[in-house]
Amino acid sequence: MAVSLKFCGGAGTVTGSTHLLSTPKSKILIDCGLFQGKRDEYYKINSYFSFNPHNIDACVLSHAHIDHCGNIPTLIKKGFRSSVYCTPATRDLCHYMLMDSGFVQEEDIKYVNKINKRRGLPAREPLYTQKEAKKALKYLRPIDYHREFPLTKDVTLTFYESGHILGAAVAMLEVKTRKKSIRIAYAVDLGRVDMPLLRNPEIPKDVDYLIIESTYGKRLHDDIKDAEVKLADIITRTIKRGGKIIIPSFALERTQLIVFFISELMRKKKIKKIPIYVDGPLAVNLTEVFRDNAQYFDEATARAFLDKEDPLGYGNITYIKDVNASKKLHGVTKPSIIISASGMCENGRILHHLKNNIENPRNTIIVIGFMAKDTLGKRIVEKRDTVRIFGQLYDLKAEVVLVNAFSSHADKKGLLQYAQGCKGQLKKVFLVHGEPEQLEILRESMRRKLDIKPHVPKKGESVYLKAD
Ligand SMILES: [Zn+2]
Ligand SMILES: [Zn+2]
Repeated sequence: MAVSLKFCGGAGTVTGSTHLLSTPKSKILIDCGLFQGKRDEYYKINSYFSFNPHNIDACVLSHAHIDHCGNIPTLIKKGFRSSVYCTPATRDLCHYMLMDSGFVQEEDIKYVNKINKRRGLPAREPLYTQKEAKKALKYLRPIDYHREFPLTKDVTLTFYESGHILGAAVAMLEVKTRKKSIRIAYAVDLGRVDMPLLRNPEIPKDVDYLIIESTYGKRLHDDIKDAEVKLADIITRTIKRGGKIIIPSFALERTQLIVFFISELMRKKKIKKIPIYVDGPLAVNLTEVFRDNAQYFDEATARAFLDKEDPLGYGNITYIKDVNASKKLHGVTKPSIIISASGMCENGRILHHLKNNIENPRNTIIVIGFMAKDTLGKRIVEKRDTVRIFGQLYDLKAEVVLVNAFSSHADKKGLLQYAQGCKGQLKKVFLVHGEPEQLEILRESMRRKLDIKPHVPKKGESVYLKAD
């Protein structure tokens, strides 16, 4: 039996990363992420696996983003009984990410069932509950970076830094065959070079096959160094006019990165020290995990934590879990910065902060992340005259500023550099985790600039991997 790779999810699209490596002696699942889309499609795609979970010998998890780990509870519900291997920080982050996901599933079905009841339709079950998410956490086994671990009889696993988010890893899977080994590097997702907090992405040696993400296959990010000046300007002019700054942000990584950035500006006295509020239990819990895993940051950040400088707590910063404390923020009139989820302004406490501040021209909304179409976040970026929040129309009078430098994904240049670094004995590159246009442009760039002919697999496609 040959060695093969099946692209079960996250191929030809960004979310739902799930890939299956089959060898003569083992079946290894690489990531088991949630597909994110419209409700019916979401339930249909996420409740079905194109393999029998019972037959999987091991699962390798690259990082704690929900489009990579979010369907592990379903996998276990459907019969998976082996272990999920990830870095120690990923395990700690998954604790909160999966529990929050279970909560979101339950809330969504509660809402659906309310409508179904009115229409006389049968009640539906959530994809998984918080209880089932908790059960899934017991399957996570931590493996540190750079430690070669025998995953099954014929496959070893070594994690390398991916520089994407805390704990994220490039997984090197080495399949031992009768001839020679096959070395497969899974760089999904891949981070950026020289970003604050994190170490740089590492390139494993002797890569035969590279599976790499393509989220920004056609885009170039703004330089993170320019963001410092831009942020300082925005914050200072908002303070001068006596306004508040509202920052919608993803709870994981983006929140901690923006807190770090603003804290640095205050420490260097480039902006006035005004109160910062990080509002939301998930973001607060995840920030605690960051503090507990300080040894995984880049040297400067790790040293700052050791010296008890707390790069995520400098200045007048308040972390808020309690809903009543959050409500009290609405009464704050002095200049301050509020950072809250959700990142695309679709739900969560950010909606209350927007509702209370969006009509005041003294205030500023800083957009630091990608906004998908049909989201409130996108309508804010487009600077519409009015936007609907909780069913009511509000005039968009606050200043809106887009800072495009904080992405945790490599851009086109970074992806090309990484593939170039893998070249040596490289046999094939597979481009996944991208929308069709990004995939196509990246494929063409790799062909032209690196003389590599990558393959863009379709969802469900299988390919054979050869030892020679
Ligand atoms: Zn990710
Ligand atoms: Zn991803």
